[in-house]
Amino acid sequence: MKLHEYQSKDLLAKYGVVVPGGKVATNAAEAKAIADEFGGKVVVKAQVLMGGRGKAGGVKLFEDSDSAAQFTQELIGKRLISIQNPDGMVVEKVLVAELVDIAEEYYLSVLLDRAEQKIVVMISKEGGMEIEQVAEENPDAIVKLYVDAAWGLDDYEVRDAVQRANIPAPAQRQMVAMIKGLVQVYLKEDADMVEINPVALTPEGKLLAADAKVSIDENALFRHPEYNETKDDAADHPIDGEASKLGIAYVNLGGDIGIMGNGAGLVMCSLDEVNRAGGNPANFLDVGGGANAERVKTCVNLVLMDKNVKGLLINIFGGITRCDEVAKGLLAAFAELDVTIPVVARIEGTAAAEGLKLLEGSQIIGAKSMQEAAQKVVELAYA
Ligand code: GDP
Ligand code: MN
Repeated sequence: MKLHEYQSKDLLAKYGVVVPGGKVATNAAEAKAIADEFGGKVVVKAQVLMGGRGKAGGVKLFEDSDSAAQFTQELIGKRLISIQNPDGMVVEKVLVAELVDIAEEYYLSVLLDRAEQKIVVMISKEGGMEIEQVAEENPDAIVKLYVDAAWGLDDYEVRDAVQRANIPAPAQRQMVAMIKGLVQVYLKEDADMVEINPVALTPEGKLLAADAKVSIDENALFRHPEYNETKDDAADHPIDGEASKLGIAYVNLGGDIGIMGNGAGLVMCSLDEVNRAGGNPANFLDVGGGANAERVKTCVNLVLMDKNVKGLLINIFGGITRCDEVAKGLLAAFAELDVTIPVVARIEGTAAAEGLKLLEGSQIIGAKSMQEAAQKVVELAYA
């Protein structure tokens, strides 16, 4: 789960990484008061969890506090749209930070290299722009340093990597310290990504994290109640945010065939089958154990919040819950819903035949196998 820049900077500062001073504001008056603390020389930055805020108009430099306050006023409530996030995100708060005089911009990140099965530190002299672009146009400008998770990093390895990245000599020591801080954040704070872009070098030769992005491993969030409020902001899709409030495992996938099933593995198979049948899955949704009418209703409503959905596939395996009970749950749920798109349900397991019999004549089209169900729903949805 992504953290806001201000949260990321607080976390980095705890580990000795030098960050510019700054505070969060939600209105012009607060922004003015903070800007005054820095003599009006500040940068106002939208706190939205998306990349490319600068290009989207969410970052602006100021010389006086009145203009900073004015910009804050304009920004709050505005939807920012970037290439990375075409749906955009509404700004609710801004970071008003001390203006840093930047002579050079570098790039630093710590993440997991899945292919190497190791933590990797990426260092580049080409900061400020998108790292994907650097990777494509000038891959040699990115130096990778692998971290042995058990052993950690030795100082000489970090010094060597910093030299290989051609970081100028006067900044090297500070860069080494910054990298060690970042790796500590990664290891100790359950992070799965730490990125600083840009690392700013001032004309006086001081190194600071001018921007910061930390992402926390979602499986470790139970250890971090302090981020509970960030969960809503962090959702990649508005329906994902809604689902997380309801405690339902839902991921929007951008297609048009709605999918729900009981059990993550079964849902994953359903996605594959829909794909194979030529369909484009709209979402992942795990209904969880059983399938009582209330739960089914909530889940169907969630899937249908996505206006692109043209057909719905329900895939239920009745092991402990009997399939006739499942069918009754589905019928009760749909009796109270107003669903106009085709719905196909594959129910299999204990008392499957009885279950399918109950569905006959209803709006829910029964299917015996997953393949048959996927083909049917795709056929009907795209008819
Ligand atoms: P992003 O676009 O979401 O990555 O937001 P950043 O925080 O990286 O800001 C975008 C760009 O604004 C940076 O690459 C810098 O060039 C510039 N910028 C941000 N903060 C400062 C600052 O304090 N001083 C100066 N001179 N430029 C800044
Ligand atoms: Mn940035």
